[in-house]
Amino acid sequence: MKRILVGALLVPVLCYAQNKYGLDAIRLKEYQASLASHPEKELVDLQKELPGAEFRIGYATTENFTKTKIYNLAKAYARKPVAEALKRAQADFVKMGYSIKIYDAYRPYSATVKFYETYHDTTYVASPYKGSRHNRGCALDMTIVDMKTKKELPMPTEWDSFSTDAWPKADIKDPVKRKNRDLLISVMEKNGFRVYEHEWWHFDFVGWRKFEVMDIDFEELK
Ligand SMILES: [Zn+2]
Repeated sequence: MKRILVGALLVPVLCYAQNKYGLDAIRLKEYQASLASHPEKELVDLQKELPGAEFRIGYATTENFTKTKIYNLAKAYARKPVAEALKRAQADFVKMGYSIKIYDAYRPYSATVKFYETYHDTTYVASPYKGSRHNRGCALDMTIVDMKTKKELPMPTEWDSFSTDAWPKADIKDPVKRKNRDLLISVMEKNGFRVYEHEWWHFDFVGWRKFEVMDIDFEELK
């Protein structure tokens, strides 16, 4: 009896959560329809597109700022042109003996709402009124690893840190960390991305405006 009641109550609450910020995030059917006229809008699986890259999807674990598991599946999707640009960046890194490691890519809009409601500071979490570029399949949280050891290169902070040392312009004393951060940013920016001013690991694809905010779970994309 209790379960039925909870279930009945949950449905309207969830619908409300997706619309209360007035943003029209597209769902699976609208996304599928958009592909007919815009095949470049396809979300592709980065684990297939970037076979040499590493993946540690932080929101599929409890090791993230919310300390809870946000995703049921550890998946990394991005729009096709984003994946193509990322492949070019990967080729540049490989020439230097490094490889990309992805922490997060496409993120359903419902997760952005959850982040905002956990942590209201929009310096570090996207505003649900606008959505995140992750919601558009146009942003990546990432670092670089040594190709042989797969170990992450030392960076100014951990991924998902809310410290000012995470800012790409932070004056980092450690020359190795500073050099690694600057290398990551320069290669990504050369390949069509822009670093976010408060997070050295977050990169927006320059053409993000053409892609809608989506609220489609990984399970629906499989
Ligand atoms: Zn990000």
